[in-house]
Amino acid sequence: MFERFMPKLRVDSVFDIDLDDLYAKGYRGIITDLDNTLVGAKAPLATPELMEWLQKVKESGFKLVIVSNNNMDRVSIFSNPLNIEFVHSARKPSSSPFRRAMGLMGLSSDETIVVGDQMMTDVYGGNRLGLFTVLVLPIAIGEEGWGTRINRQLERIVKRRLGKHGKWLEEEKNK
Ligand SMILES: [Mg+2]
Repeated sequence: MFERFMPKLRVDSVFDIDLDDLYAKGYRGIITDLDNTLVGAKAPLATPELMEWLQKVKESGFKLVIVSNNNMDRVSIFSNPLNIEFVHSARKPSSSPFRRAMGLMGLSSDETIVVGDQMMTDVYGGNRLGLFTVLVLPIAIGEEGWGTRINRQLERIVKRRLGKHGKWLEEEKNK
C-alpha cells in the first residue's frame, strides 16, 4: 500500500533531471510543484540558476506548468514574470489540478512528468494518474508550514516501511 507514495525517480534537485533522456522516452511535459521544489517556500522569485534551467526545459522540447497548493498571490507573483502557466490552490494530491495542467499543455498522462518535493501530495497525486513522478529534496525545509510538517512525518513513516521491503535504499539526505 505504500508503493503509491513511491516516486519513479529520486534526484537531489530539478537541475539533476536528465531532460534529454526523458525526452527520448517520449515525455513532453512537466508538471512541477513550486514551494521547495523550484525555490524555497519563502523565496518570492526565481533565482538566475532556475531561470536558466527553465530556458533549458523549453529548449529541450518540454512544456511546463506549475501546479501548487499555495494561493493565487504566491503562485502568480512567481510565475507571471516567467510567463509560465500555473494552477494555484491545487489541493494536490487531488487529480483535477494534474488533469487541468495536462489540458493546458495538450498532453496525455503517458507524456507527462510530475516533479515535487513531497510524497503525500506531488508523488501520490502523480502516481494516481500514472504519470512519471520525480521526487526532489526540499530546498529549505525550515520554512515550511504546519501542513507540510505533518506530511513530512508521514513521509518518514512511509520511507521506513518502504525501506523494510528494500524499496527505499538510499539514506535520507535531509533530516
Ligand atoms: Mg513543495
